[in-house]
Amino acid sequence: MARGPRVAQGRAPEPGRLRPRAAAVAALAALSCAAPPPVPEAPPPSAGAGAPASEPAPARDRAPTGDLPVPLPPPALAGEPRESREAPPGDPLELLWAHRLDFSAGAPLVTIRLLEGQEEIAFRPRGPGRLEPRGSDPLAVTALARLRARSRNARPATVTYLPLLAQVSARSRSSIDRLRALWEGRGVRTRVGAAGGIYGIAGKVIDNRRLLLLAEGTWTEASAEAFAASAFERWGERPEVHGELVARPSGEVEVLDDEGAVVTAGDSVVVLEAPEGFTLERVPREPAQPARGVEDRSYPGRLLVTLDASGRLAAVAAVELEALLRGLVPSEMPAGSPTEALKAQAVTARSNVLAQIGTRHLADPWALCSDVHCQAYRGEGAHAAATDAAVRATEGEALFGKDDRRLVDGVYSAMCGGHGEDNDAVWENAPDPSLRGRPDLPAPAAAPWAGGLSAEPRLRAFLGDAQVAWCARAPGARPDRYRWERRFTSAELDQWVAPLGVGRVRALTVLERGRSGRARTLRVEGERAAATIRGELRIRRLLGSLPSAMFLVAREGDSWVLRGGGWGHGVGMCQWGAIGRAAAGQDYRQILRAYFSGAEAARVY
Ligand SMILES: [Zn+2]
Ligand SMILES: [Zn+2]
Repeated sequence: MARGPRVAQGRAPEPGRLRPRAAAVAALAALSCAAPPPVPEAPPPSAGAGAPASEPAPARDRAPTGDLPVPLPPPALAGEPRESREAPPGDPLELLWAHRLDFSAGAPLVTIRLLEGQEEIAFRPRGPGRLEPRGSDPLAVTALARLRARSRNARPATVTYLPLLAQVSARSRSSIDRLRALWEGRGVRTRVGAAGGIYGIAGKVIDNRRLLLLAEGTWTEASAEAFAASAFERWGERPEVHGELVARPSGEVEVLDDEGAVVTAGDSVVVLEAPEGFTLERVPREPAQPARGVEDRSYPGRLLVTLDASGRLAAVAAVELEALLRGLVPSEMPAGSPTEALKAQAVTARSNVLAQIGTRHLADPWALCSDVHCQAYRGEGAHAAATDAAVRATEGEALFGKDDRRLVDGVYSAMCGGHGEDNDAVWENAPDPSLRGRPDLPAPAAAPWAGGLSAEPRLRAFLGDAQVAWCARAPGARPDRYRWERRFTSAELDQWVAPLGVGRVRALTVLERGRSGRARTLRVEGERAAATIRGELRIRRLLGSLPSAMFLVAREGDSWVLRGGGWGHGVGMCQWGAIGRAAAGQDYRQILRAYFSGAEAARVY
């Protein structure tokens, strides 16, 4: 197998994408002058909490009794524009700005941003199509006609920006109270907001509500950014900047033919209906790396050219969730993996997308971006027959908790290292009964480890034991990801931790570990002072971007040696483990039950 599966988007970054050591050193050094951290802080898990770019977090406090109406009204969101309630049915602006799941037509339609901040957007329908300018008559367009969109009299949206100190699933009320007390104790006035919604469908509950802890006050985007930078310097935590929409952008979107003649114009948006899909020009290959250039990409679904919050042009695809998944699954797991592992990945990814929609980009005219923050989506270029078949075979199926029947935030990481981790050891959410860490071993070998590895001698014994976890026995799995070693000099370590102001490091001690032995709290004792770092991702970044926080520290001469296991945060599905189990004959339902504490795949549409 040429490449390994990837860590869920929106959560901890894929280890392969972590910066090399030298870059991390430079970036950490830059922190002392308030530059952004080396890698953007992964958002906490969504309400159910799985990603990455967000890592997710499911929510649930009370078990539902019987079927709920479909759908329940979403909670009122700060920033939801008043006019959305008065919009005519079928208004494309409603689709763009509502941030709501709609199952009325079966698979929900998902809006995903392909381009933003553009002066001009060029596109071509791949078959005969129709332009639908908002407020004007539709217009037929021929296959492959090259069209260009521009804006006229555009005005940006009015958005209120404020620091987002933390976000947790709606059932993590106690976490938000604790975080609130923490920030108030630092002298920051706070308030709690909400995002996401709760939907009852097919006797199941899709609940992706999240609580947002926001810093009160009058902020501009710049002052909120400055606050985030200083918060990082003072407390080692970098809040995101959260936008709340006050008024949508306004203006016209006009469409020109290839000769430059205006063919039509719409109020704020023009929709291209093209049953055979469309091609969009000049899409960045890697949004985070402009140097990698642009290319034309093909997409299924409908294209909406609209005004983004800055008043410039955005291209947004409105695509059925099933079609979106055909583009996502092959970038998360190699298409050559066993069928049942691909099916497990498809169900997990579907659950993960459902958990994200409506919880982010609330001040943007799209539900998801196509970056690592939400879902890396490359359109049809990524499709593969095997992953298409896995998506089809599990159509409409998402994961629901064994006891509470609530949507499980489908989080996953590349390789657990032999033991999965609890969600609350990695993110700020309340413990999720579907996201409990367990040994990733066949039953007889798992028994001795039932008590977990949070005591260091247990972790030491586990890492030294010859047991072969599912993720180690998967065909193609790399042994150097299952067990690894990182060695660095005192000088290197001293440089990485320089922003902490502790001086030369004397001791590194893990004070607290999660169930899989992953470090939750690290004490750095220096010649001048000591500092305590909380959070597995923060710890991994501090120590030269470690592949996982499952490690033991040793001092050998002038070197620090970290010996560890696994690749990624370890919560939810172990992707290489899923491949190992499928190769041994388990079906996708068994695989999902094993990684999500008995959760069942069930069809919601
Ligand atoms: Zn995003
Ligand atoms: Zn594993």
